[in-house]
Amino acid sequence: MPDECIFCRIAQGRSETEILYDDDMLVVFADIRPHAPVHLLLVPKKHIRSVNEVSEEDGPLIARLIETAREMARRQGIDRSGYKLLFNVESGGGQVIFHLHLHLLGGWKR
Ligand code: AMP
Ligand code: ZN
Repeated sequence: MPDECIFCRIAQGRSETEILYDDDMLVVFADIRPHAPVHLLLVPKKHIRSVNEVSEEDGPLIARLIETAREMARRQGIDRSGYKLLFNVESGGGQVIFHLHLHLLGGWKR
């Protein structure tokens, strides 16, 4: 199935990708082309195309994404130095994989 969603595959454990965190709602793994010393992706198990398709019922998922990003930042030792959380939204916003994901970026020497 060449046009299958790559992040669905990873979230379902059907790829070689090393999963750093896994719960009932999401998985976390390292970005394959990091833009920062620490660059993780937080990916819901539910297929949602982009922020534009998030609905009210996804509220608990969005809260979980933020809580988990904070916890992953702590585990990576960048919670005190600081980090960025980023959603790219649709092509004009730089999104290239159309399965919702939150970027966690940090670890720069400043
Ligand atoms: P975006 O531009 O917001 O859609 O981000 C997609 C991100 O996914 C990019 O930073 C890619 O480097 C990353 N990426 C694409 N394929 C994989 C993969 N198989 N494993 C890990 N990261 C990936
Ligand atoms: Zn998907």
